[in-house]
Amino acid sequence: RANGAVTVEVALRRCESCGRTTTRYFCCGSRTKPLLFCSKCGREVREKCPQHPDADVVRYRQIMLDIRELIKEAFESLGQGYDISGLKGVIGLTSRDKTPEPLEKGILRAKYGLSVFKDGTIRFDSTNTVLTHFKPREIGTSVEKLRELGYTHDIYGKELTSDDQLLELKVQDIILPKEAGDHFLRVAGFIDELLEKFYGLEPYYNAKKPEDLIGHIFLTISPHTFVANAVRLIGFTDASVVMAHPFIHAAKRRNADGDEDSIILGLDALLNFSRSYLPNKPGGREDAPLLLVTQIDLEYVDDETYNIETVDRYPLEFFEATWRYEDPSNVKIRTVGSDFKKGEVKMSFTVPVRSLEAPRMCRYRKLNTMAEKLEAHVALEAKIRAVDLEDSLSRALSHHFIRDIAGNLRKFSQQQFRCMRCNAKYRRVPLSGRCEKCGGELNLTVHRGTAIKYLIPTAEIINKYGIKGYLEHRVMLLQEEADQMFSRGNQSKLELLEEEKPRKFGLSSFL
Ligand SMILES: [Zn+2]
Ligand SMILES: [Zn+2]
Ligand SMILES: [Zn+2]
Repeated sequence: RANGAVTVEVALRRCESCGRTTTRYFCCGSRTKPLLFCSKCGREVREKCPQHPDADVVRYRQIMLDIRELIKEAFESLGQGYDISGLKGVIGLTSRDKTPEPLEKGILRAKYGLSVFKDGTIRFDSTNTVLTHFKPREIGTSVEKLRELGYTHDIYGKELTSDDQLLELKVQDIILPKEAGDHFLRVAGFIDELLEKFYGLEPYYNAKKPEDLIGHIFLTISPHTFVANAVRLIGFTDASVVMAHPFIHAAKRRNADGDEDSIILGLDALLNFSRSYLPNKPGGREDAPLLLVTQIDLEYVDDETYNIETVDRYPLEFFEATWRYEDPSNVKIRTVGSDFKKGEVKMSFTVPVRSLEAPRMCRYRKLNTMAEKLEAHVALEAKIRAVDLEDSLSRALSHHFIRDIAGNLRKFSQQQFRCMRCNAKYRRVPLSGRCEKCGGELNLTVHRGTAIKYLIPTAEIINKYGIKGYLEHRVMLLQEEADQMFSRGNQSKLELLEEEKPRKFGLSSFL
């Protein structure tokens, strides 16, 4: 708006010195106090609204906020050298108390080209993999630095003097991709400037290059969980993957590799995370570091970890037992679990490798469409003698694809319609075919492409690998359903609204 005023629901506070009502946490050099409002009439209350004693009491109220003035104040408090370019906001706050983050933090993040996660932290997301041993040269960290970090001896007990010696990874140490190094260098710059300009403290990281971050603490957290684990960075590789000890992955409630990890710079989490920012909806507290584990205790990590073998060679009796189809529990081989019971876990390996070098990016990210991913997956399985292809395909289809297709078709038929101009949503298309509020054009919120994304590759697989019976019929029924939904009779109505005019083809041509 021209005058910079917006209407928002936001948590309000009061300065006890000057009496000003504000969204800021500090005023006149001291901390402001939160205010309470009646959720029904919006008046400021102590405990309950005298007129609406049953109404909820909330920390926010709808007000006209002079955004321009607030931004000006924030720029002034930071000093010279900032501009508004790259600064983005949200339309509204979805947290319970609608507590805003100080604008200065956003301005500083924008300066470093960083964006923020829902909980106030800056994330680096990456696939993870397990690692138990490494050589200094593989992670680009000097022998001196590694000795400083506690890697004084190699796995054979020899003093560490060369970058070619093999070391056992310490449980809470991680190795990041080089791209993460560049990212966190910017995060560290942001944090240092935040400390100086916003908190009035000394900078902490003083990092000039990614290597300067080695030895610093980071947090790692898995999707859909709320426990973060503290880890230490010890080096970088060219691979697009976070390498960490299997115990770390287990502590994050993940079974050890190929999963997604989120990494946060330690001080970023401590300074900028707040529960108050988390959306007040189911799942809103997921992916947020509500708890922090500073020291991994094997007692509390997933038992799956206990099954990792710690031997450097399999004994003859192990091979003999395979001939007898012996129950695995009858063959005693040293594992993490058995070592742990005895007191000390010492990781080992049976097959040495020349270097950590491996594919640098996972195939899953290289392949674009779902059809390509599925094709590659199936082609690999077809080559592996131990895989019963039909069984594995049936499982993949029934557990993932068929459920998705059925769900997406349902979503398509029950979808809402959205005005492209004013964003108004409609349960059904008004008879006029246009937005009732502004006359704008309406569009689908779920597109036909989304609805049938998996249908074609699934039908192709059923056909190509000759899968018969229940699954074949289930897919045929889904195709009929889709055929009806997108048939000529319905097409005029739907296509009127469809953004991209797709080529028309009969689904049966894919069978
Ligand atoms: Zn004040
Ligand atoms: Zn009231
Ligand atoms: Zn509209």
